[in-house]
Amino acid sequence: MALLVQKFGGTSVGSTDRIEAVAEKISRFRKEGHDVVVVVSAMSGETNRLIALAEAIMDEPTPREMDVLVSTGEQVTIALLAMALQKRNCEARSYTGAQVRILTDSAHTKARIRQIDEQRMREDLTAGRVVVVAGFQGMDEQGNITTLGRGGSDTTAVALAAALKADECQIYTDVDGVYTTDPRVVDSARRLDRITFEEMMEMASLGSKVLQIRAVEFAGKYNVPLRVLSSFEEGGGTLITLEDDNVMEQPVVSGIAFNRDEAKLTISGVPDTPGSALRILKPISNANIEVDMIVQNVGADNRTDFTFTVHRNDFRRAKEILERAATELKAREVSGDSKIAKVSIVGVGMRSHAGVATKMFEALSDEGINIKMISTSEIKISVVIDEKYLELAVRALHSAFELDKPGGEV
Ligand code: ADP
Ligand code: ASP
Ligand code: MG
Repeated sequence: MALLVQKFGGTSVGSTDRIEAVAEKISRFRKEGHDVVVVVSAMSGETNRLIALAEAIMDEPTPREMDVLVSTGEQVTIALLAMALQKRNCEARSYTGAQVRILTDSAHTKARIRQIDEQRMREDLTAGRVVVVAGFQGMDEQGNITTLGRGGSDTTAVALAAALKADECQIYTDVDGVYTTDPRVVDSARRLDRITFEEMMEMASLGSKVLQIRAVEFAGKYNVPLRVLSSFEEGGGTLITLEDDNVMEQPVVSGIAFNRDEAKLTISGVPDTPGSALRILKPISNANIEVDMIVQNVGADNRTDFTFTVHRNDFRRAKEILERAATELKAREVSGDSKIAKVSIVGVGMRSHAGVATKMFEALSDEGINIKMISTSEIKISVVIDEKYLELAVRALHSAFELDKPGGEV
């Protein structure tokens, strides 16, 4: 019999009826003899509702109080799920992150897990109880409540599975697995039976929010068997695995990720001297603004144009900082565009195939889509385009790389 960590996301626990359905599912696993630790998210929409309440009080709520507030969403669902299990004569106990000693650093709203004391959970499991743990939250050394960033319940589940050396970490959600691209955008997207940790990591960090990036990172590091499945339908879902040498031929592209959260800034006519990139980006990073893609071009007049992307929420602040830097650097002008999107193709098969970029650019050019920025790594190519062409671009690439045809799985 197996030890399973099962995580149920916001939609899966979005109403009391759905919580009862989750309890039904878990009690079936218990009847089969499995030990189960459950991690739950807040009911869908609840975390957003709490954030909006805080923002009605102040523009930039203090992170410590924010964590006290948003962690309440998960406390509601653990209690309700434990009750629904008890009603089915399935013994269960609910715990907050602090109660099961999920120890994190003190980086409020984006804390990292340092340590988990799995003793208490083991005692409950030995006594035949289902352990229901609040996702997304922990406690720092001073006893402050912390949270792990949006989508963080996935990371709680993987971390518990690693600490307990569970046989499998199962992420139950509102789709029946990981698809070649977001099935809500492309109808012909196909479910993958398997995807490698490395590809899933790229997909997540390039915008596929089906799994939190840190959860995939953690699972890869501790080799936690991870599976994404539907809360509502039966099926094997998608297994996230190590690269499998036995697969005869890897598809070149396994998936397409996209992201509408970025904005682009350009400072042009910067004198081309050593240290100018540093003088542009240092004040941005000092303001805690993360930079993603960077492109620099030197023109014939020995002046450079420097373009980079930031999160859309940071666009206005970054532009103000850049305008100040432009005056100091005697640059020509600063411009920006917040209506952009990033589209990326991902696949371990790219390592051994030439011409992937050409095929990508051709597919976009055939649709008349202009590429504004490009960046590549060993297993991905990303382009920045106008946001209005995003869906068209994803569909065009999905069919150019034949992702709608069966047999493309890793
Ligand atoms: P949960 O609340 O269960 O954590 P999320 O909304 O965080 O669920 O994640 C599931 C959603 O991820 C799906 O509804 C789907 O729209 C989206 N998604 C984005 N990219 C993909 C992909 N490649 N495969 C499957 N789902 C994806
Ligand atoms: N409730 C949190 C969020 O909405 C964490 C999660 O659902 O994973 O981001
Ligand atoms: Mg999620």
